[in-house]
Amino acid sequence: MAGDANSSRDRIAHCCCEQLRAKTTGEPLIVITCFCEECQRRTASAFGISTYWMREHVELSGSATRYVREGQNGRKATYYFCPTCGSSVHWELPDRRPGQLGISGGSFCDKDFPAPSMSVWERSKPGWISIPASARFMENPPPPPIPTRVPH
Ligand SMILES: [Zn+2]
Ligand SMILES: [Zn+2]
Repeated sequence: MAGDANSSRDRIAHCCCEQLRAKTTGEPLIVITCFCEECQRRTASAFGISTYWMREHVELSGSATRYVREGQNGRKATYYFCPTCGSSVHWELPDRRPGQLGISGGSFCDKDFPAPSMSVWERSKPGWISIPASARFMENPPPPPIPTRVPH
């Protein structure tokens, strides 16, 4: 983004075999740990790390398999996986986060990635994981307001 000093940082998230990639510009809108059962199964781990970006700040490449599931209150969630290695790289929540793209925090493999500011669905969080008390929710809080665009 020429002329926008705040959004110049690029990062690459990719699957294990590296063919499915998401290049992000700037910083994520929010980073969330999610302990819902779907994220545990999707990641085959104890929680998912959800990072959200404005769609226009992400460049996707490679081929992906789609999986659509019904979320809370019938809201649709579409997940994209690498058809070769099976990694979950990105997703869309058109009802909850229109105009945004979710990217698995783990796909960045970056220990210096911004820390989560929210932890949701803690009611299915394993007891051995401790999360800083700053922003913990037993379920998903209500959808955030749709961000208004700040003119650059
Ligand atoms: Zn792959
Ligand atoms: Zn989840």
